Amino acid sequence: MERKSVLIVDDLEINRRMLRELLSNDLNVLEASDAESAISIIDRKYESIAVVLLDLIMPEQDGFVVLEHMYRKRLTEEFPVIIVSANDDDANVEKAFNMGAIDYISRPFANRILLRRVLTTVSLFDYNKDMAAEIDKRFVKDEPETDERTGLYTRNKFNELVAERLKKAARRSLCMIAIDIDHFKLFNRFYGREKGDAYLKILGEELGKYAETYNGIAGYFGGDNFALLAPNRQDILGELKKRARDELLDRNLEVGYCPKLGVYAIEDNTEAVLDIVDHAFTALSSIRTDYTRLMVWYNQDMVREVRDEFVLLSDIERGIRNGEFTFYVQPKCNMLDGRIVGGEALIRWNHRERGLVPPGMFIPALEKNGFITRVDQIVWEEVCKWQRKWIDDGHEPLPISVNVSRNDIFSMDFTGYFLNLMEKYHLPTHLIELEITESAYMEEYERFETEIRKLHTAGFSILMDDFGSGYSSLNSLKDLDIDVLKIDMKFLRIDYENKDKGISILESMVNMAVQLMLPIVVEGVETQDQVKFLTEMGCLYAQGYYYYRPLAVEEFERLIMDDSKVDFDGMQVSSVDQVHMLDFSEKQLFSDEMMNNILGAVAFYEVKDDTVKLLRLNEQYYRMMDMEYVMADPEYATHLRQSIHPDDRGSFLELFDQAEQNPIKGSTADIRYMKDGDDMRYIRFRIYPLRKQRDSMLYYGSLEDITDIINS
Ligand code: C2E
Ligand code: CA
Ligand code: CA
Repeated sequence: MERKSVLIVDDLEINRRMLRELLSNDLNVLEASDAESAISIIDRKYESIAVVLLDLIMPEQDGFVVLEHMYRKRLTEEFPVIIVSANDDDANVEKAFNMGAIDYISRPFANRILLRRVLTTVSLFDYNKDMAAEIDKRFVKDEPETDERTGLYTRNKFNELVAERLKKAARRSLCMIAIDIDHFKLFNRFYGREKGDAYLKILGEELGKYAETYNGIAGYFGGDNFALLAPNRQDILGELKKRARDELLDRNLEVGYCPKLGVYAIEDNTEAVLDIVDHAFTALSSIRTDYTRLMVWYNQDMVREVRDEFVLLSDIERGIRNGEFTFYVQPKCNMLDGRIVGGEALIRWNHRERGLVPPGMFIPALEKNGFITRVDQIVWEEVCKWQRKWIDDGHEPLPISVNVSRNDIFSMDFTGYFLNLMEKYHLPTHLIELEITESAYMEEYERFETEIRKLHTAGFSILMDDFGSGYSSLNSLKDLDIDVLKIDMKFLRIDYENKDKGISILESMVNMAVQLMLPIVVEGVETQDQVKFLTEMGCLYAQGYYYYRPLAVEEFERLIMDDSKVDFDGMQVSSVDQVHMLDFSEKQLFSDEMMNNILGAVAFYEVKDDTVKLLRLNEQYYRMMDMEYVMADPEYATHLRQSIHPDDRGSFLELFDQAEQNPIKGSTADIRYMKDGDDMRYIRFRIYPLRKQRDSMLYYGSLEDITDIINS
């Protein structure tokens, strides 16, 4: 008989080695250093697996992800899972048991004891399968039937009730809906855990009411995962979708944090509940990154997509070995004279059968599983090689930016890696610039900030890619220390109907970037018309088909050998007199959308004689002040007068004078602000002048609550 395998899942090589040496006499050893690869091994080799040793605490995804996967596929019934971990609290261990783990061994352990326990478990497992199930049942009973916070059924109870219901229900009358909250992690970071918990509670209550009305069953699976068994009727689902959205918007929560629904129509009532739930969650995960879709139905293709992804990955492996990955360079140009100031390296896959494959076809899959880093490293190294070659050939090199994925930054000593590259190719750091996409900044913000600082200290420039595509604010930009902003025309959706709106969003971004002394590169510039309004606005640099498409390196080389086409001065912030002042009177430049999504807490003021009037506030402002959110509140002015601490009113007024004298840097002061009349907050105001009107002056202010900083 073929020797059975033990799968060791642990992120630390040293831990794996220890277990490997201990067990390899008796069992064939398989290893995984993260959840993703563990799952992949399990799916491929489960028939030969005799036991899994699982570390619960791993970066990226933890051991529960693996356990969850096995549990859903009922694999915990096929072979035993032993948790081997240090410093786990009882709740974690208990949770692991409830999800099908069979034993727990804590580190440090005595080698011989571990070996014995593993082997005993393996040999007894088959024999005792049924008994283990009995034990499970006994302890699962101890798990509460309903979740305290949401009032919904916990996983096991939910599954049990669904199974009962399916027995009685008519065929095709029910559907399973998986629900989670888009960007919930982000939500917790922005609003705090407390608000996050409150959100879960609201959603739980909604789903509970819903289940009651339509005779469904609602469950809460922990995290932000909910499930709902409901009648399979379009009208009911439509209402659920609408209600999920409306209710939450009513409570001042943004669309970006909407609950999403994955729906599986149950055809066959005898299908296993775990599979039914699994299908619904598969559907859900297919729209996780697509903010335009709130609901999706399960279909067979989704399974195929997962499989295709797997095929793609092995193809990529082969491609890497064959050296099929290279890069193209797209020049960045000064729009005033069309000269090239630098380039961006864009990966290309020269597939042996399919020819040139664009990154959109394979980057997303690579990003999902972390493979991206290997591919990125190929590009970085190639770019360095070429830079070296150009210098060796006696040419003056231009800075070239490379793309960096979120995963790159967190999965290794990122700065160290680049410094090594610079050393290996004897390159000064300013020749390689790093493009980091806006969305990468969102999670693990502190770690991110630290890494950016390290990169800066080492002399690298950071470009924030795809700015305006998501959730960042210009205020946080200031803290993050970015060198260049990249704005993509496609995120502005400057189509025919929305032209003015898109342009005005861009215009205000440009204005503020200039205030922050940040150069801007506009990507996707395709027409002369666009060049015209961009330069009028004060933008200087563009990257787009209007100038050059991405070019093969040799072609780019030919181009930069021609001095008349190149500008070695690098990028400047647009000069002050090019700043195009916003014209409030003609159109409403600040759409609500922009006010709420692109900026932090902002306010617009009108100052006339010694009276300051608040013209407009955004949602973040209200949130900061804990005010009810009403866009058109006529009480603005009174509110302002009453809320500023009497002793600070003078300094507050002075802010506006100072700002006028220093229009670029604006003015800053910390002002005491009375929330609800007595709760005092310190608010850091930054005021910038915008425009003179006939007998008044308009200002823009960004606000930051610094009470906690002051008090700490
Ligand atoms: P990106 O970083 O925003 O790159 C700009 C994309 O816009 C490129 O697409 C470029 O060819 C395209 N583009 C430039 N000018 C125009 C224009 O005028 N009109 C239009 N319609 N498109 C224009 P590409 O090369 O297909 O790359 C797509 C994305 O793939 C990149 O977006 C980037 O996010 C990712 N990517 C590319 N290379 C790498 C890489 O080496 N590593 C990683 N992690 N991601 C990469
Ligand atoms: Ca880029
Ligand atoms: Ca971009």
